[in-house]
Amino acid sequence: MYKAKAYSAASATAPLASTVIQRREPTERDIQIEILYCGICHSDLHTVRDEWNSVMPTIYPCVPGHEIVGRVTKVGSAVTKFKPGDLAGVGCLVDSDHTCPSCKADLEQFCGNATFTYNSPDKHLGGVTYGGYSDSIVVDEHFVLHVPANLNLAGVAPLLCAGITTYSPIHRWGDIKGKKVGVVGLGGLGHMGVKFAKAFGAHVVVFTTSTGKNEDALRLGADEVIISTDAEQMKQHAGTFNFILDTVAADHDLNAYINMLGLEGNITLVGAPDKPLALSSFALLFGRRSVSGSLIGGLAETQEMLDFCGKHNITSDVEIIPIQRVNEAYERLVKSDVKYRFSIDMASLKSE
Ligand code: NAP
Ligand code: ZN
Repeated sequence: MYKAKAYSAASATAPLASTVIQRREPTERDIQIEILYCGICHSDLHTVRDEWNSVMPTIYPCVPGHEIVGRVTKVGSAVTKFKPGDLAGVGCLVDSDHTCPSCKADLEQFCGNATFTYNSPDKHLGGVTYGGYSDSIVVDEHFVLHVPANLNLAGVAPLLCAGITTYSPIHRWGDIKGKKVGVVGLGGLGHMGVKFAKAFGAHVVVFTTSTGKNEDALRLGADEVIISTDAEQMKQHAGTFNFILDTVAADHDLNAYINMLGLEGNITLVGAPDKPLALSSFALLFGRRSVSGSLIGGLAETQEMLDFCGKHNITSDVEIIPIQRVNEAYERLVKSDVKYRFSIDMASLKSE
């Protein structure tokens, strides 16, 4: 074992603070990574504040972070995919059983024995896994991604969660070229959803509660913007969407968006509010519409997404912060005041 610098929360109400954690020495299949940037996902905040207690209670201390990009510092003897000096990415998963039907179908995110990057039982050290708000991490090579060399690394980090979480459902939906696609919420996930839907040729419409995000939405690739609190604007678009991606992190009126769908339209939820959303059967019955969900993506699909981003020069629009400003960033996240992902420059951890 060795010591790594990190930021952790001691309880649901404590701010994140500097700490030292233990990491394992790389085993023969492991890769040790010096973390350069880590994005701040709203899931980090949900977890740190134990907002998902009813589904996934948080074990403290909690070191969040699952949008990790860095450089390989050491590899185990059986590692074949990476060598020291290579760029590397780690997302929400660090292990799975490799034998279940989900793993065999390259859908490791649905493995019943998956280990998430933080707040999951740690098979090596006991306790729970610690995430990317740290200067280094050790991960089985199967769960480490190759990062395209042409992209800005601070903007790549959020691709490891916000990127794959939006790429996967949009890509899986089918040929969305020319289709009317809505993205609800222009935050970390939402702004990546806009970029991917645009890259796949959709007519992209952003639903936002923030009047100040209009210009940014258009710059990011949206064709139209709807202020979702304006009943008249919502009415004009009712029944016209083929597909909507809902990224909202808090309670909201799901039925209002279902009513935006046309015949057999689908709304896919990726946002994970702590409380259940009310669902009107009638909104689904009329138009044979459907609601579904999507969870990150498997490793192969995540690599495909990163390669796609490399080819099309897609990164997240980030506000780079030192780790010392992480608590302030969380307060801004709650207020939907993020343009459009915080990316922590992990060099700032050196001074702790
Ligand atoms: P974020 O950056 O905070 O963005 C969420 C956006 O939702 C906000 O910017 C805001 O956009 C909108 N919003 C917030 N409160 C709202 C409200 N009360 N009503 C309507 N809209 C509201 O969060 P994120 O990191 O993108 O994450 C979004 C959600 O996805 C979180 O719940 C997170 O845990 C979840 N998530 C799921 C997966 C998955 O695999 N399914 C992966 C990662 C994250 P406007 O200002 O434009 O309205
Ligand atoms: Zn995330």
